[in-house]
Amino acid sequence: MENNNAASNFIRNKIIDDLNSGKHKQIITRFPPEPNGYLHIGHAKSIVLNFDIADEFQGKTNLRFDDTNPLKEDIEYVESIKEDVKWLGYEWDGLFFASDYFEEMYEKAVLLIQKGLAYVDDLSADEIREYRGTLTEPGKDSPYRTRSVEENLALFQEMREGQFKDGEKVLRAKIDMASPNLTLRDPVLYRIAHATHHNTGDQWCIYPMYDFAHPLEDAIEGITHSLCTLEFEEHRPLYNWVIAECEMECQPQQIEFGRLNLTNTVMSKRFLKQLVDEKRVDGWDDPRLPTISGLRRRGYTPESIRQFCREIGVTKGRGAVDVQMLEHFIREDLKLKAPRTMGVVHPLKVVITNYPENQVEMLEAEINPENEEMGHRQIPFSREIYIEQDDFMENPPPKYFRLYPGNEVRLKHAYFIKCHDVIKDESGNILEIHCTYDPETKSGSGFTGRKVKGTIHWVEASQAVSAEFRLYEPLIEDEEIEEGKTFLDYLNPHSLEVLQGYVEPNMKGVQGQDKYQFFRHGYFNADPVLTTEEKPVFNRIVSLKSSFKL
Ligand code: ATP
Ligand code: MG
Repeated sequence: MENNNAASNFIRNKIIDDLNSGKHKQIITRFPPEPNGYLHIGHAKSIVLNFDIADEFQGKTNLRFDDTNPLKEDIEYVESIKEDVKWLGYEWDGLFFASDYFEEMYEKAVLLIQKGLAYVDDLSADEIREYRGTLTEPGKDSPYRTRSVEENLALFQEMREGQFKDGEKVLRAKIDMASPNLTLRDPVLYRIAHATHHNTGDQWCIYPMYDFAHPLEDAIEGITHSLCTLEFEEHRPLYNWVIAECEMECQPQQIEFGRLNLTNTVMSKRFLKQLVDEKRVDGWDDPRLPTISGLRRRGYTPESIRQFCREIGVTKGRGAVDVQMLEHFIREDLKLKAPRTMGVVHPLKVVITNYPENQVEMLEAEINPENEEMGHRQIPFSREIYIEQDDFMENPPPKYFRLYPGNEVRLKHAYFIKCHDVIKDESGNILEIHCTYDPETKSGSGFTGRKVKGTIHWVEASQAVSAEFRLYEPLIEDEEIEEGKTFLDYLNPHSLEVLQGYVEPNMKGVQGQDKYQFFRHGYFNADPVLTTEEKPVFNRIVSLKSSFKL
């Protein structure tokens, strides 16, 4: 059962207060991605938070593209973000683009100039940084800070008309170069960028900066609670300054929460984009990436991601969440839903020498013993089967309970078999092994004559369906980055292992995104891109075992 009653947290409490006090009749939140990459699991935390909390209080949530930087943004990202939000199970109320507000933002900047609260500055980016000062030293005023309102209005107009080159001038707020809060030391409001924007084309060559644009976007849409990550805590006074001085009717409240970090996972879009651009992974939806599209292709379900995001909760903490917690939620979600089946990833042929030639019998097995409603399946059995290479050893160590010469094991859903011969080629490689079976020991027959210690899985050879298995390890080996190195120096060369094996015949015709639990191997998802009618390709989502405790 999905629980979407958000656990009590400081944001929820604030909203309850604001509704009780009559400050707001209805709350409006927003999810404001910049369309400069694909969404990742960190964004999911923000999506779940914003949509769940609005749902809980019959409010609304907008999807707003924060598209104020034409250099990095693309329509491809807009489309993927919409798809991912929908896939996660959410429906937005309004769909907006910050770029649709460019004219209004420009007018607000003019208002600030008229009020003597903004000026055009000719300092270069480096000089501005130098003049800004440090935490211990106050900044210095720019020599252009005292330009008259008229001159500023004229220059800003000329900036808009394209009379200057990129970087030649900026518009800055005139606040306080000595403020202990560095974000208030005359922040840049507009910069020049002669670039084509995905939405507004070549209409603009000046673009608003995040700290100016974001509060205006929120206020224009009537957002009541603007939830953002902790890095913006310092920016809150500037956020409030912009809303007040631009004389916005609506006064949204910015509230910060801790961003999600996961162990063994790099979440920044910049790094993910680098991996994709350099072809170190197979696109944004590579199943090793923490992108929503990668998790989807890996086999994560929307339910499991939502539950994970709710369970980690909303705090001011900055620690990393163990990635095993995410894995816990997909196991939980698939436990009752995923059909059980058998697949052999490292095949070894077994000939059952006392089983009649040309005979195939059908054995019955539950589709999911934890969910009887799913019914039963038929599995063929005959004289030749495949087992895992790992499940046989010619010279086993002590406590090896699987197959070895002279030992008997149980074949899951079938019979006991005992190995009596190992067939090798000239160089000593094992080609196949020979066993006998005991018809008395058929699964479900109630046989109690003797016990065996090992149970192994298998696939009947003549009808087996060839399948590819893709097993994953973390993409990043270690998150502690040494000085002078980057994440690229820590890429795990074994993050993907591709194996060719066999699955039960009833797996023919598997569709992309179908999910199964393979006996002893874990949960798998049929890859939606690589699976063909003839050959399923399975991504391992997670193995079965975990030491993780919630
Ligand atoms: P990145 O640094 O990965 O590029 P971003 O914050 O620049 O992320 P945006 O597109 O600006 O990405 O983010 C959209 C929304 O998602 C913002 O409100 C942001 O706070 C939130 N968000 C992004 N990353 C995380 C995260 N790891 N945990 C929680 N919320 C996040
Ligand atoms: Mg960003």
